[in-house]
Amino acid sequence: MIDALADLASISVTTLKGVGPALAKKLAKLGIESVQDVLFHLPFRYEDRTRITPIGTVRPGESYVLEGEIVACDIAFGRRRSLLAYMQDSTGKIALRFYHFSKAQQNNLKNAGSVRCFGEVRNGAAGYEIYHPEYTKLDAAQEMDDALTPIYPATEGVSQARYRAMAEQAAALLDRHGMPDIDVGASSYVNTNLVDAIRYLHQPPPDANTQTLLEGKHPAQHRLAFEELLAHQTSLRIVREELKKLTAPGLAPPGDLYSELGNSLGFDLTGAQSRVAKEVADDMMSASPSLRLVQGDVGSGKTVIAALAAIHAFENGLQSALMAPTELLAEQHFINLSAWLNPLGIKTAWLTGRVTGKKREQELAAIAMGDAGVVIGTHALFQKDVHFKELGLIIVDEQHRFGVHQRLALREKGVDGNASPHQLVMTATPIPRTLSMSMYADMDVSVIDELPPGRTPVTTTVLSDERRADIIDRVAAACSEGTQAYWVCTLIEESEALQCQAAEVTAEELGKFLPDVSIALIHGRLNAREKTAVMNDFKAGKIQLLVATTVIEVGVDVPNASLMVIENSERLGLAQLHQLRGRVGRGSKQSHCVLLYKKPLGTISKERLEVMRQSNDGFFIAERDLEIRGPGEILGSRQSGALQFRIADLMRDREMLADVRKASVNLLQHDRGSAEVLVNRWIKDPEKLGQV
Ligand code: ADP
Ligand code: MG
Repeated sequence: MIDALADLASISVTTLKGVGPALAKKLAKLGIESVQDVLFHLPFRYEDRTRITPIGTVRPGESYVLEGEIVACDIAFGRRRSLLAYMQDSTGKIALRFYHFSKAQQNNLKNAGSVRCFGEVRNGAAGYEIYHPEYTKLDAAQEMDDALTPIYPATEGVSQARYRAMAEQAAALLDRHGMPDIDVGASSYVNTNLVDAIRYLHQPPPDANTQTLLEGKHPAQHRLAFEELLAHQTSLRIVREELKKLTAPGLAPPGDLYSELGNSLGFDLTGAQSRVAKEVADDMMSASPSLRLVQGDVGSGKTVIAALAAIHAFENGLQSALMAPTELLAEQHFINLSAWLNPLGIKTAWLTGRVTGKKREQELAAIAMGDAGVVIGTHALFQKDVHFKELGLIIVDEQHRFGVHQRLALREKGVDGNASPHQLVMTATPIPRTLSMSMYADMDVSVIDELPPGRTPVTTTVLSDERRADIIDRVAAACSEGTQAYWVCTLIEESEALQCQAAEVTAEELGKFLPDVSIALIHGRLNAREKTAVMNDFKAGKIQLLVATTVIEVGVDVPNASLMVIENSERLGLAQLHQLRGRVGRGSKQSHCVLLYKKPLGTISKERLEVMRQSNDGFFIAERDLEIRGPGEILGSRQSGALQFRIADLMRDREMLADVRKASVNLLQHDRGSAEVLVNRWIKDPEKLGQV
């Protein structure tokens, strides 16, 4: 029996040979503290160094061991200086390129004679190339590996060799100690036991089926991917159960004020809005805390839903807080909501980093006394000195822009003993079903799947930036006809400063070409007051062309703007492009979006921009983006944190999800203890995961 031996989860990594305090610290950063953690840090790919491939048969995108004679070796002066060597065997020739190299290395390689190298083949300037291959001079005694080499997820300061050595020791301990094999239920993806699967993946045997392993379709991979997805789902369910144990104010049905807003809007709600508003109201009439995600494409009218929910809370003597990710958006919400709510006798308060001094004190007092029925702001809403009298509803707009902890911090403002406010989170980033099923488990989701009437779909053109001059002419023509336009500058650099600089340069340049057009600039380095001033002028039509960074991505609503040019569009995610494009097409005028790109454009980028050209449907775009790029990239770094699987891959393993769901419900019902063991095994911070 394994019971006599200690659980691997309770044996510290420091018991492994070669793991001292310094290394342990680095590992801890990755969440690796126990021997069990070492085992669950699984290889994310394998390299096949078991055989030599003839140079003539290689394909780009794959890694190979190649052997051949160095036939040339010289410095190449291209866009960047590099050392370029050619290696040849009887079947062909390939280039080896080094951007970092020493004089000694240059001489050494020149005179190397026969070498063996390993690396990924790419399509380069000199034909097929390998950048920075690993290489050794060939001598007769060299043997090949006899099995696939596991490659572990990047572990800063921990080399692959070091990690492999640790995994080897951990696997030996696994043989002695074992690990509880939880009954994960029956599925065609569960055909092997846990211990065998872990062992296999860390040390694939020489006769392993290389192909299935490289494709991620080996039964051992299926077994663990299934278990990981199960752990993930189960932990989400546990967190939701905990939430449901709390109480919330159960509201009376919506009253007169609620209906009054409907009458004063000046438009009828769409069918989708009415349905979602009702779902939200029903939630809040329950005495257990609701958590509903409202998804609706840009311009689908989510703000009204928020306003109605806030009125509903107000009618029951409760305050609402609406949190937006940027000052610009918070301010727009404040203006819109105040216009809707103040006439109904509901006071609004406004709290952002920009509200300071006396004004801030007044707002804080209004919030604490309960005079302010609806409080609108940025993350400033959850600072320590903000106290609500009776917070009953939290609304988070563009929730994907917030970290999980920020939302939790706001919820804390309303948690009082056993009571929690209701929560409504809204997003325009359509989350494909595949993802939402996994991310939110049984979280309630409402979809506004209909746009208000009278909108004309935006037409999109994809052009190389060699056509920039033509586009500038087009902007000139549009402006002379009374249209307003956006010119969005993007840069790959993370640095905000550089982005702003690029926008400044562009604005100046456009000014030269377009002397008759009134141009203004908006970017992140303007302070909030300056931003607001610019936006107000643009809204009022005093500015014809607004040169902007991606600060205008969310919330900006100027119906007369009907032309948008986006530079370097190939560098943005599709969700972000879709959001940006959503700034036009808000009026009845035909709108256009021009996506400029820099040549050369890779196949994937081309395909992605083509999706934008074809479709205005956020869900379709998100599904396609998911297929093309995978889940991690789509939701932006904050949210994807919750989606970083160790071995599962939502796209590849999506067919497991239905079985996983069943298994999760079953496990929680019948074996709560095992459910918890399972979650702890895979997920370091379950609270965090559950609160997306
Ligand atoms: P989003 O879902 O992107 O947050 P908004 O709530 O900002 O959308 O709404 C976009 C615009 O459409 C706003 O000007 C809003 O007043 C308007 N709007 C919302 N619902 C309707 C409707 N049912 N009919 C007409 N216009 C609407
Ligand atoms: Mg909005």
